[in-house]
Amino acid sequence: MDDFNGKTVFITGASRGIGAATAREFAESGANVVLVARSSAAINELAADIGPTALAIACDISQYADVEAAMSAAVAKFDSLDVVINNAGVIEPISALATSDPVAWGQAIDINLKGVYYGMRAAMPIMQAAGRGTIITISSGAAHNALEGWSHYCASKAGAAMLTTSAHLEGAGAGLRVMGLSPGTVATKMQREIKASGINAVSLMEWEDHIPPSWVAKAMMWMCTADSDEFLGQEIALRDESIRARIGLTA
Ligand code: NAP
Repeated sequence: MDDFNGKTVFITGASRGIGAATAREFAESGANVVLVARSSAAINELAADIGPTALAIACDISQYADVEAAMSAAVAKFDSLDVVINNAGVIEPISALATSDPVAWGQAIDINLKGVYYGMRAAMPIMQAAGRGTIITISSGAAHNALEGWSHYCASKAGAAMLTTSAHLEGAGAGLRVMGLSPGTVATKMQREIKASGINAVSLMEWEDHIPPSWVAKAMMWMCTADSDEFLGQEIALRDESIRARIGLTA
């Protein structure tokens, strides 16, 4: 998919950070963008800024009925569902496992893991019926490496990485392209929350060490093209210099 004109891209967590940058990037390339998040004011403002090719839908991705309704509304408005980006996620509550709040821990799983499953569950029948579609899920180094205070985040991202593998296994035969993207560290509100926690090595990083959200957006545009097909079913690491070079990203 090198031409995004008329294509519909559904982006969760579009109210700020990586999701908002991704919405702008795809919209500038001609795509219809569906902006999903809980903060309706922020997504309405972004949609107004982008124009009539943007649709804002307030939605809590930890509720399956919300996600299914949002996807139906997207198809009703734009007549297709070409790309789903499972981007919404939370880092809080950062806490040692032994003293963590079981309810809050579970809420992070509801968003970071079940939210990704809900996105795939709602999108796959639509895409399989169309015989095409791309599903990208934002992963993290934390999916594969434990970090102190992040048991909820690491466990949810590890589970989401397995969902990418599972969706690829079941969807590739029907024409679906399913991939994960591990962006490295990105200058967003999430990194501010990590910094404020003072827990583990990531919180000690300098702001300048983080890449801009637009880089992650550009990576996802590339992941929608056939040039990235060798990575179907896998996770792409944006820290990898050879990947950055292929996308045309330079520091
Ligand atoms: P961010 O600026 O905090 O944005 C998070 C987004 O997720 C917001 O738009 C938020 O919108 C949305 N969200 C959270 N809970 C939601 C819910 N229940 N329903 C719908 N939307 C929800 O963080 P970010 O850095 O852009 O993070 C985006 C993704 O990248 C996350 O999956 C994160 O884990 C991943 N990631 C980030 C980094 C990094 O260094 N920043 C590194 C690796 C991976 P509302 O609050 O308005 O709902």
